[in-house]
Amino acid sequence: MGSLLVISAHAGDFVWRAAGAIALATSRGARAKVLCLTFGERGESAKAWREGKTLEEIKDIRRAEAAAAAEALGAEIEFLDAGDYPLLESPELVDRIVHVYREVDPSVVLTHPLEDPYNQDHPAAGRMALQARVLAQAIGYDAPGEPLGAPPVFFFEPHQPEQCGFKPDVLLDITPVFDTKRKAMECLPAQQHMWDYYTDLAKRRGVQLKRNAGPNLGLPHTTMGEAYMRLYPQVTDTLA
Ligand SMILES: [Zn+2]
Repeated sequence: MGSLLVISAHAGDFVWRAAGAIALATSRGARAKVLCLTFGERGESAKAWREGKTLEEIKDIRRAEAAAAAEALGAEIEFLDAGDYPLLESPELVDRIVHVYREVDPSVVLTHPLEDPYNQDHPAAGRMALQARVLAQAIGYDAPGEPLGAPPVFFFEPHQPEQCGFKPDVLLDITPVFDTKRKAMECLPAQQHMWDYYTDLAKRRGVQLKRNAGPNLGLPHTTMGEAYMRLYPQVTDTLA
């Protein structure tokens, strides 16, 4: 089984939005790597700022939380400390992401959708993830490793999906690993208000999953789901 690469703008994003996919991959013996471009130190750490912590203290807190969450999911994690609010796009940062693509050689990529009027760091991370993927595919690009193949890219669910043009076209059944996702969420007390929100969302996506799977598959009553959008066409030799 190939590896999973998750490119996350801030320290918590990969947990709320994709922890189920990560836990599923690692539970099946696959390698999963989370690349956190920033710690979310300025934009997504309001509780710590209100407690009077310094910028460096907040980065340390968020790093430790995200590392604990990744460990709970059985995933590797790397932080690029690129600075958030704003997360600035640069050729240097894209180049660092290319190096990660070449090293991980993912068979699946998860990242942010390209639209988010509430948070410009998220689309910036998504754009850089896509640009780096294309560069990593080029044999002439100067980075170690083999040229990347064509791993499918899935956008994970933003916090306000309707405003981000997010219309799920993949519903992932994360029921067997939901307890692991909840444990990973609980590694992030800086954003405790999100735990129940994303538990409720998983229930709603699970209800929709069951509706789309049909009534005869024997899915358990408490199905939990995560929603994704696919960027590139699915390649298949059968439509069923
Ligand atoms: Zn974020």
